[in-house]
This record gives sequence, structure tokens and C-alpha cells, in this order.
Amino acid sequence: MKFSEIIYQKAEMELKNRREQAERLADMRRKEFLGKNPELATIENEMKNAALEVIRSVGAKGKSVDVSAIAKRNLEAQQARKELIVAAGYPEDYLDIPYSCKLCKDSGILNGKLCECHLALLQQLSVGELACSPMLAGSTFNTFDVKYYSDIKDPRTGYSPRDYMGGCLAMLKDYAECFTPRSNSFFFSGGTGLGKTHLALAVLNRLTQRGYSVYYSSAGSLLKQMEKERFGRSADTVEEELFNNDLIIIDDLGAEFSTAFSQAAVNELINNAILSGKAMIIISNLSVDELEERYGQRVVSRLNSFEVITFEGEDIRQLKK
Ligand SMILES: [Zn+2]
Repeated sequence: MKFSEIIYQKAEMELKNRREQAERLADMRRKEFLGKNPELATIENEMKNAALEVIRSVGAKGKSVDVSAIAKRNLEAQQARKELIVAAGYPEDYLDIPYSCKLCKDSGILNGKLCECHLALLQQLSVGELACSPMLAGSTFNTFDVKYYSDIKDPRTGYSPRDYMGGCLAMLKDYAECFTPRSNSFFFSGGTGLGKTHLALAVLNRLTQRGYSVYYSSAGSLLKQMEKERFGRSADTVEEELFNNDLIIIDDLGAEFSTAFSQAAVNELINNAILSGKAMIIISNLSVDELEERYGQRVVSRLNSFEVITFEGEDIRQLKK
């Protein structure tokens, strides 16, 4: 998978933060430990001296040095150090630098390749503005409760909103479980606070667990970035970044400030997604008719290939309070 330059830069910064944090923590632990166990300094000096003697002996000509004796002294010092730490009631690696990733020591590189921790970080960052948000972590299928939807049956359909949402929940679970990058697209429509974003993020969470990459952004911030790039000469565009993912989620379509640019950009985006066979979830507070009014008939006719889920009922966020 490819990531944009911005995502790589963010990952580099995060790795640097992790390294520095680990080193700071190790420094603090060391100072505190030395204060209580000053003999550590003596032992470490012995280790250092043994190492120095080996180095010197390599340069010294004609003098025979017993390297194995020095090595033995060094090993004994190492053992003494370990015992001192354990005797003080700490795990034996307590004074090692506590890197998040022991494999690459938070450098992100292992044997000349990107370490797994680096790849995971890139993936996490490509989720965009939502990465690290508590909302993302809390939005799973398990935390989606249909009991907040009315169980009063609609006489026309014979279904209650609760029946309908229960069905949608089961369908989306299935979608996330069986997802492939060629899966179909969805349009989630309905008022604020009806769980549209929650269900889309539940799909996102499950897909990320399954190793797929998902792009999430609100239409507003996505369009703002696209507009900014129109005048820049950045080699990597947000649109490229978006299409490098297996699923694209665009939230709050129609809430953004409408301009000729945003209308054309939305048109193009949806068109490109359909042409490339990319799976999308588009979320909007607007109905299909209102969307047509705003973006024109072309966008709406493109949404024909999307499966529509209409969220109905009262604002759940109000009911939960
Ligand atoms: Zn690593």
C-alpha cells in the first residue's frame, strides 16, 4: 500500500516523539535508581573499562592481552548489574530504554525495511482527522444500541424504526465481515444524531482490524484541503491519498460551504470512485432530493449504484442524556 508524503512525515514525527519519550523515561528511572543504589555506577564503570580494554588491546602491537579474561569480567559485571536491579524490586530490564517497539527501537526501520510498527502507524494516520479520537474507539457494532430507536410500527410498511435499524446493523456487520475492496457502496441519509457516523466508524474499526485501510474525512475538511491544493504544487494530493485506501468514508456531505469548486469536486470525486470501483460510504443529513438540489442531478444519478440506508427517528444523543 502507498501513503502520501504528509502521512510519512507525520509518522516520522510520531516515531521521533516515541523515541524521545522513551529516552526521557529511561533517564528519569536511572536517576531515581542511582540515588537509591549508588553501587550501580561502580558496576557500570567496570563494564565500560572492560570494553575499553578490549578496544585498546586491538591497537596495541606486540603486547599480548587476554581478551577472554576481559570478556569474562564484562559478563560478570553485566550479571551483577542485573542482580542489583532485581534485588531492588524491579524487572531486570527496568533500566533499558522502554521503546514502544523493541524490534526497531522506535526507529521505524528494521533490516532496511519499514518495521511493522511503522506500517501500523501509517495505517492509523491515514484514517485522517479521526486517528486517536475517542469517538473512533467508542464506535463499534457492539456499542450501537437499537433500543434508542422507536418500536412503533409504521402502518404503511409494518416495520418500526427499531426493526429497520436492527436489519441495517446486521447487514453492515456482514458487510464489514465479508468486505473486499470491490464491495458495494453505501449512502447513509437522515437527520443529526441518528447514529450514521457511529455505524460508519464501526465498519471502519472492523475493516482496520481485518487489515484493510480506510480513509475517513468530513466533506468540509476534505474539500478545504482539495481547494488549498488547487493552488499549491504538492506532488501528493489528498485525492491520491484517498484513493490509496480500500474504503473511503465521507461524512457530512452537504454541510460544507457550497461553492462552484465544491460542487465540481464532489461530482468528480464520486465519479472517480465509481469508475475505479472503489467502495465508499457517503453520509449526509440531506435526503436524496435535497442532494439533487444542491449538487445537481448528475451526482444523484451516480448515487444510484449506492445502497441507501435512511436513518429515521429522534436524535439519539438527546435521548441518551
Ligand atoms: Zn518497530
